[in-house]
Amino acid sequence: MTDAEILQIIADRDAAALDRLSAAADAARQTHYGKRVFFRGLIEFTNYCKNDCYYCGLRRGNLTLLRYRLPPDEILECCRQGQKLGYNTYVLQGGEDPYFTDERVVEIVAAVRAEFPDCAITLSLGEKSAESYEKFFRAGANRYLLRHETANAEHYAKLHPPAMSLATRMQCLRDLRKIGYAVGAGFMVGTPWQTPANLLEDLRFIEEFQPEMVGIGPFLPQASTPFGDCLPGDLTLTLKMVALARLLVPKALIPATTALGTISAQGRELGLKNGANVVMPNLSPTATRKFYALYDHKICTGDEAAHCRRCIENRIVGAGFTVDMGRGDPAR
Ligand code: SAH
Ligand code: SF4
Repeated sequence: MTDAEILQIIADRDAAALDRLSAAADAARQTHYGKRVFFRGLIEFTNYCKNDCYYCGLRRGNLTLLRYRLPPDEILECCRQGQKLGYNTYVLQGGEDPYFTDERVVEIVAAVRAEFPDCAITLSLGEKSAESYEKFFRAGANRYLLRHETANAEHYAKLHPPAMSLATRMQCLRDLRKIGYAVGAGFMVGTPWQTPANLLEDLRFIEEFQPEMVGIGPFLPQASTPFGDCLPGDLTLTLKMVALARLLVPKALIPATTALGTISAQGRELGLKNGANVVMPNLSPTATRKFYALYDHKICTGDEAAHCRRCIENRIVGAGFTVDMGRGDPAR
């Protein structure tokens, strides 16, 4: 696809053209994964963060948020609950919380690995040194989610304080790949100051890097952040990005994100119809869920893990897909 073609798709308001894009993305997904949708059990284990990303409700500057950390035994309890519900992949996600030192993360990963030897362990803990990533990998982690957020350095600088840079982010992604992780990159759609040219850069980056996973969701404002008054990302534009990601990285594992489900009641189903093939239902304890407030109005914050499992299964089947509770490794 040429740059002009991609920019045309971004600008397009013609419904028939969008339908063609969805159909092409759907066909690409079917070639590698059929109708299967993979389940990942998400455990949001800490909402402390030392960073101050302007878009995120967990940023350290948000003094209104009640903070929590799950102790290791509670994290393991979430995994046990997940196993009972049929999960074989756990995603441990959190803010960049200094309390979780390398030693503590290693201990937790090793404990999950020991109790669930065949599961896939995915980490999403932000930027760490290559040495830290390596320790986690040796303890048994297999996958790592670290969205690049925007592939344009100037735009990156508008979304993050000066302490963070696109160069560091990209270095982390390269380190993760070199160590042997299946790597997840990705970006938000509709962040302040984002241009069509930025989205093109995001797509070209994932095309070049060929991440094993690509997370794409709309930006959603969180009231206690500097972007609290900004407009949310657009549903159709987000779906176009999901479909284009599928076409540019045909074998990627692409989630129909919670943020997509938050901007529209049918958002996740539409994501699946536009090339996504992963869902990440929440396994976090209900008591702390609402405090993992990346953005406002996040869905499912009051639901039990068993409820989420059933609800998402019904949505998948209703949209014409099938549930796959296996590890869902990347297609070769
Ligand atoms: N601290 C880790 C993981 C938690 S944040 C990290 O930053 O990688 C996980 C993802 O949530 C981020 O990559 C970002 O893309 C998304 N996110 C954060 N704030 C958001 C918002 N306001 N709207 C939509 N997505 C958001
Ligand atoms: Fe912290 Fe991640 Fe939120 Fe940035 S996006 S403030 S690193 S939790």
